[in-house]
Amino acid sequence: MTDLVLTRLRLPDRPGLWDMAFAQGRISGIAPQIDADAPRHDAAGCLGIGGFVDPHIHLDKAHILDRCEMSEPSLAAAVRETARAKAGADVADVYARAARVAESAILNGTNLLRTFVEVDPRAGMRGFDAIMQIKQDYAWAIDIQICAFAQEGLTNEPQTEALLVQALEQGADLVGGCSYRDPDPETHIDRVFALARRFGTDVDFHIDFSLDPGMADLPALIAATQTHGYGGRVVAGHVTNLSAMPPEEVARIGRDLADAGIAVIALPATDLFLMGREADRLPPRGLAPLAALRSLGVHVAVGTNNVMNPFTPYGDANALRMANLYANVAHLAAPDDLAACFDMVGDGAARLMGRHRSLAVGQPADLVLIDAPDQATAVRTLAPVRAGWRAGRQTFVKPAGQLLR
Ligand SMILES: [Zn+2]
Repeated sequence: MTDLVLTRLRLPDRPGLWDMAFAQGRISGIAPQIDADAPRHDAAGCLGIGGFVDPHIHLDKAHILDRCEMSEPSLAAAVRETARAKAGADVADVYARAARVAESAILNGTNLLRTFVEVDPRAGMRGFDAIMQIKQDYAWAIDIQICAFAQEGLTNEPQTEALLVQALEQGADLVGGCSYRDPDPETHIDRVFALARRFGTDVDFHIDFSLDPGMADLPALIAATQTHGYGGRVVAGHVTNLSAMPPEEVARIGRDLADAGIAVIALPATDLFLMGREADRLPPRGLAPLAALRSLGVHVAVGTNNVMNPFTPYGDANALRMANLYANVAHLAAPDDLAACFDMVGDGAARLMGRHRSLAVGQPADLVLIDAPDQATAVRTLAPVRAGWRAGRQTFVKPAGQLLR
């Protein structure tokens, strides 16, 4: 029994226009023409994709610009101001701000994201409790992974470890560390791995967020990944200092990352905003060199990171915008390179989160329509999304704009 037929749909890697049928929450048919006694939705030549993916975002500290002092932006000031704001945030406040971002992400075609949630003596479990509720309340449209996160360090704040345990016991999907905020980065990394092993979860680190090649925790992360046999389950976010290294050094580290099975995520909006501020001219871009890493076999992706806070005073949780920004800053122009950028906020980013998706018969009917002929063009033009379905149920619609001559 067919529930819906999408008509005139473009699909990646399949020339021509297609019909797609949904039944009981799954894709039940893909053919040039499907005749079924069911409602029809004209895709009008839009490209059908599995939905955008934001593999690194902070729902708990979004939309706090109005309560932060922003006269001299820097990483240190961002950490300080955000810490102050979170100490004063209750569950309802976190929930309301996170809901704004979740709804924006859904309307931008994102149906899978990984959010970090800070648990520490300032935030207690309030942020976590709010985001667990968000995860449940928006499950109709978006799959949210929660990473219990030690933003302010671990060895310097021993109470945080018990809160991470509590979050993992109460349903956090994975655990995350922030080595650059801990006076003892190696012990920090080891403790996060110990928690991950205890609860059988993946790990995700904020690491090497500077332009100083000499300040590198990545070797310790590579060693820990190998020691714990954790290849394929480790993500390194930021790693901006790779942009300050000579190509041969990047190549050596890239091979080590590929061998160890560590994925790298660039956060262009934040990295561009906070890095290179000391330059009085020709400021460096300070973005992890994803194209070079990818060519060495490293799993790479791009994320939003922050929305409207001292780390990133911009944003609308639009994953495709991050791919477009990354492509622009990284000087990418070839269709294959742009298609790779699409993958960094698409199925590639999903794989990094342990989700393997495909638009094939029998798979979940999770689909987003974007107004572009192909993925590379979508990145170039920041193509608008038009509609989305999750498990066969339509979750949003965004009609095209209309000129009134
Ligand atoms: Zn982050």
